[in-house]
Amino acid sequence: MGQEATLVIVKPDGLIKSLTGDVLSRLSKTGLKIIGAKVLEVTPELAHEHYRHLKDKPFYGELIKYISGFLHGENRVMAMVYYGKDAISKVREIAGSTNPEEAEPVSIRGAYGRILTTGLYENVIHASSSTQEAEREIKLWFEPREIVIELYPAKDAVNPQTKKVWL
Ligand code: UDP
Ligand code: MG
Repeated sequence: MGQEATLVIVKPDGLIKSLTGDVLSRLSKTGLKIIGAKVLEVTPELAHEHYRHLKDKPFYGELIKYISGFLHGENRVMAMVYYGKDAISKVREIAGSTNPEEAEPVSIRGAYGRILTTGLYENVIHASSSTQEAEREIKLWFEPREIVIELYPAKDAVNPQTKKVWL
């Protein structure tokens, strides 16, 4: 695989547990470049769109409550775009398996994740799982001007004050 981008989100439990610095340190070992980063509040609309492919899963309702902050009283997340060779697999390896009990103990999810009594995997970070998903997710979470390289084609917005929008 060549140069690719991936979306990383430190989920609300990661912020509550003050894990943002540790997550950044661990991810810096990949040698990938950060090309976008911000803290934002997750709206229910953003949560539903991000996880739309999971909407038929039994855990979907809890997952939406989790990512949009209702489980932790904290709807801030930190979103980052990492870029470089094999970015998706490198980040997912450091993140660890989806199920924190199956994740390598030294991975982020193995070290800090847990399974709630509802069965939901509270696993600290999101990481894109394919180039197609990464593109969909990055375009959902970031505007073109928030990414320091021309990652995907963009065009001038109709409203010039709005700057650029993804094609
Ligand atoms: N999830 C869960 N139970 C499952 C599968 C997933 O609680 O059986 C949650 C978990 O927080 C996970 C998120 O739903 O991170 C998205 O699921 P996905 O299968 O995309 O896993 P990921 O790509 O995050 O490893
Ligand atoms: Mg996924």
